[in-house]
Amino acid sequence: MSTSASPPDRATLLASLRDYVEQIREEGLEGLEGRGPVASPPARVRTPATPTMTTSPADSPLRSEPAERSYLYTGLEQTTDLPALREFIGECTRCKLAPKRTNLVFGAGNPKAELMFVGEAPGHDEDLLGEPFVGRAGQLLTDIIERGMGMTRAEVYICNVIKCRPPENRNPEADEVAACEPFLFRQIDLVHPRVIVGLGTFAVQAVLKLKTPISKLRGIWHEVRGIKMMPTFHPAYLLRNPSDKRLVWADVQEVMKVLGRPIPRRGAQG
Ligand code: URA
Repeated sequence: MSTSASPPDRATLLASLRDYVEQIREEGLEGLEGRGPVASPPARVRTPATPTMTTSPADSPLRSEPAERSYLYTGLEQTTDLPALREFIGECTRCKLAPKRTNLVFGAGNPKAELMFVGEAPGHDEDLLGEPFVGRAGQLLTDIIERGMGMTRAEVYICNVIKCRPPENRNPEADEVAACEPFLFRQIDLVHPRVIVGLGTFAVQAVLKLKTPISKLRGIWHEVRGIKMMPTFHPAYLLRNPSDKRLVWADVQEVMKVLGRPIPRRGAQG
């Protein structure tokens, strides 16, 4: 007589389905709606910024979208350092994420870092602690920084496009990105790193104003606000797809070369 395992319950099926959709979205398969560039909110001053690619194959399918630019808030450009920017943001209520957050997650690390990481938005742990990348994905990012790059978290600067946690970790919405991204752009200008590493589809597409899948953007140098940017996979994606760590390893090696830093031995990266 054959025995068969009991079928998974509805909650398990739904969780698997959500995970699957999230995975193919992160891989950037075309046809699935991404979390790309967004409409701009009502604003007081409009600033054109033009992210451009510095290197890409001649026949590259990548192309910047016509500039859909962010808006600055009056006074934002007058902030002269990160504490002043944090003060400017204040107890922010500029978008609908505000009432649900525990902490606004501004960013952390060296205000004069040569290397800046930009992720998507705080998750549960980050919301509770008020620090970016402190959960499971954050542990993997720490590993990438320490073992993959031979640096420390304190040496680099880490922040997100969105400063408040979207409920249930849902994708940030267009109006939320539009309200928050001027703060990221000011953060980039103030830290003025030599290199930015964009983590995952959402962050990279939002910063570069592109809808190109991350799988096609990663590994290729881009430029944002005059700074070289290397897109790579998000650590949360790597937790689900550890075999793609080798691609991130290749991407961070390119970063280390540009920074003129020694590349740790492959074995150290784990
Ligand atoms: N994922 C992100 O994109 N950012 C965080 O801070 C944590 C998880």
